[in-house]
Amino acid sequence: MAHEALYTRGRPKTLSHLIGQEHISNALARAISTNRLSHAYLLVGTRGTGKTSTARLLAKAMNCDRVHEAQSSGRALEKKEIPCNKCDACKNFDSSQDNVEFDAASNRSVEDVTRLLSTAHFAPLRARVKTFIIDEVHMLSFEAVNSILKLIEEPPSNVAFFLATTELNKVPMTIRSRCQVLNFRLIPQAKIAPYLVTLANRLNVTLHEDAAQKIARLAAGSMRDALTYLDQCYAVSEGEITLAQVNETLGLISDENLDDIISAVRARSRVEVAKAVTRAFSSGLAANVIAESLITRLRDIEFDMLDRNESNLADFDRIIDSLREATREMYGSGIPDIILEMALMKLAAPAQNFIMPMQNVITPAPIPQATEPAENLDAGQKIFYDTKDYLNSEVPSLKGLLDQAVVTSFSDDMLTLGFRKEFFAAGFTRSQKDFEDAVTHVAGRPIKISVVIDKNLPPPVLKNMPKQESLNLAGAMKIFNASDATKI
Ligand SMILES: [Zn+2]
Repeated sequence: MAHEALYTRGRPKTLSHLIGQEHISNALARAISTNRLSHAYLLVGTRGTGKTSTARLLAKAMNCDRVHEAQSSGRALEKKEIPCNKCDACKNFDSSQDNVEFDAASNRSVEDVTRLLSTAHFAPLRARVKTFIIDEVHMLSFEAVNSILKLIEEPPSNVAFFLATTELNKVPMTIRSRCQVLNFRLIPQAKIAPYLVTLANRLNVTLHEDAAQKIARLAAGSMRDALTYLDQCYAVSEGEITLAQVNETLGLISDENLDDIISAVRARSRVEVAKAVTRAFSSGLAANVIAESLITRLRDIEFDMLDRNESNLADFDRIIDSLREATREMYGSGIPDIILEMALMKLAAPAQNFIMPMQNVITPAPIPQATEPAENLDAGQKIFYDTKDYLNSEVPSLKGLLDQAVVTSFSDDMLTLGFRKEFFAAGFTRSQKDFEDAVTHVAGRPIKISVVIDKNLPPPVLKNMPKQESLNLAGAMKIFNASDATKI
């Protein structure tokens, strides 16, 4: 059986069907009743809010026999009569050559557009008014915009223009100032959901209330998107559409799963976070979809709380901020799953108590503590410096590298030197044998050298000096925000 897309079936047939844009349909009904329609309209709004549908209704109404009769007799028209959809003009509208529609975003050449517009100068073939509906008008070439401008400034008789755009700021002011502007709003969820239920009923399908709400929320103000989503669910439904089916068909994460993640984060239970996130991933969802669903869910929860006059939203704000940050990081990253997991794990980390130092405003940079007795380190440092002095006269080229080294541990026969940068460690290892020989000579017994790289080591100038001096210097470095103590 041929399946007519709901997007087509759900299209408004009269002004009364224009969901969520009552401010426009009311004004237009008045203008039509009093025969005060403009010959140029600029329809502005996000995609799927009804711009093209409204343009078609207006174009049809301008030609509708019943509308004209009412106008002549001075009878006020109701929205459900605009247009009548019964007269010959209405019936022929869809196939009428007097209604020209094109999308400026599709690849039409300048010649095509100019040719189409030039027909405005010819009288309509059958209709009363020749109508031009141009979508995404801001995408037109400079030449095409100029042609339209001329047509609007000195309109041929019986021609009307409906220019639709999603980006008003890209439409030249010259066009904007000559059109009547209709601003389309995002359609509220509360209006989309009942409409979907009605539409499903007409198809003999029961659309569950929570399923309708979910689709409406996902559509984010666009009726076209809502109808497309409903269409996808309808295609696989058997007389009924449940929330679970919506989630499955549209590849969405369930609210239950989202709430589990949020509860686990708020309870600071990393184990539960891991479980809930794994469950979300196992249903085949992409990390960015999960993150965005979490943000939407948190926002809904916040709105519900505000409705109940609860104002303690800090915890939710904290989670939303981190997720937004994580979402940004995910783009272009090869490890989006890990980024999301880490962000949630971090959020679930135990709360920390910060103690502000009351008297000592300057807190010295923490110095990693060796796990071995301090006397061992002292002995190691003494040998290290003695060897340095010895080498300064013997192998001067090693001095620069040894300035970068920190004694990290010392046992009877093993001296370990740490470097903050791999570059220095690599340079040192090339002369390691010379240093080993020198240490053995200075200590009077065989000593081996090992090397570690750790970017978190303190600057050598701090580590290789007596403790009190090093603390003072660390404080001084903090005051001057110096990254290198040698600059103080
Ligand atoms: Zn009609």
